[in-house]
Amino acid sequence: MSEATRIDGKAFAADLRAEIGRKVAVLKEKHGLTPGLSVVLVGEDPASEVYVRNKGKATLEAGMKSDTYTMPEDSSHDDVMAKVEELNADPSVHGILVQLPLPDQVDSDAIINAINPDKDVDGFHTLNVGRLNSGQDAMVPCTPVGCMVMLKEVIGDLTGKQAIVVGRSNIVGKPMAALLLKEHCTVTIAHSRTKDLPAECRRADIVIAAVGRAKMVKGDWIKPGAVVIDVGINRIEDASTKSGTRLVGDVDYDDAAKVAGAITPVPGGVGPMTIACLLKNTVTAACRQAGVPEPE
Ligand code: NDP
Repeated sequence: MSEATRIDGKAFAADLRAEIGRKVAVLKEKHGLTPGLSVVLVGEDPASEVYVRNKGKATLEAGMKSDTYTMPEDSSHDDVMAKVEELNADPSVHGILVQLPLPDQVDSDAIINAINPDKDVDGFHTLNVGRLNSGQDAMVPCTPVGCMVMLKEVIGDLTGKQAIVVGRSNIVGKPMAALLLKEHCTVTIAHSRTKDLPAECRRADIVIAAVGRAKMVKGDWIKPGAVVIDVGINRIEDASTKSGTRLVGDVDYDDAAKVAGAITPVPGGVGPMTIACLLKNTVTAACRQAGVPEPE
């Protein structure tokens, strides 16, 4: 059997970002509207700092307004809440993202639910979760949106496909399952208590791996020709690299690529699409708040 098609998330993301840049230019010219994204980072987690820096850079490159508020690790719950309220009240801010995880003294659920749902570009607010699950217009979490953009490009119509989402987190697994259901897939959601996970995966035309376990999904778990989307980001030791580590996904890529029809790599698959979809959500949020149609 021939090797699976490698789904180039970087290329998809570059196209999407260029499209967003064009939309932003139209919004500025026609409506004097510059979409603005504000990111709140509490503490000094190095991985979060990298994510936040990349988000800010991408936002500016798309011609949007970008602000990052870095708050000390020992910020109180009330300090973070006050920042969210300030951003809620600022009409030049259309999207608010509070980088998770937050320090223990800050109640993450309360902070996320204090964000104006229309500015909740991460789609984590309870109202947006409810809207997504009841088929209403919602802000949808960026990673599942990115996976869906790639799936539709690769497969086209998803109607009737058997899909499995391995992982049931609120930020990836559950919204991913909701989006697949919306596209008329028959969806299985698997998790750590699922019995015979390989057999469940083998029934699927679409496998989404969002677990956080390096190379867990093997080639013999994959139905021949299935489309595999690997959300996982895991750092493993690798003495052959300069840093001594490298990133891998939740899927054993080399093994699965022998069986799958198409598969995303890690890095260069879902990751770049996540940031592009954050920009996409911010443009959508800005248009809704300003009451202007989103440019084609
Ligand atoms: P969580 O830790 O919140 O959820 C992991 C899920 O995997 C849980 O539902 C858990 O089940 C399930 N799980 C754990 N072990 C097993 C197992 N052995 N068999 C089956 N299911 C298992 O992770 P996230 O959803 O936040 O993230 C998942 C991965 O995606 C991580 O590697 C993360 O870094 C990556 N990620 C990547 C993003 C990107 O932009 N590319 C964005 C967000 C996340 P249970 O509920 O039973 O505990």
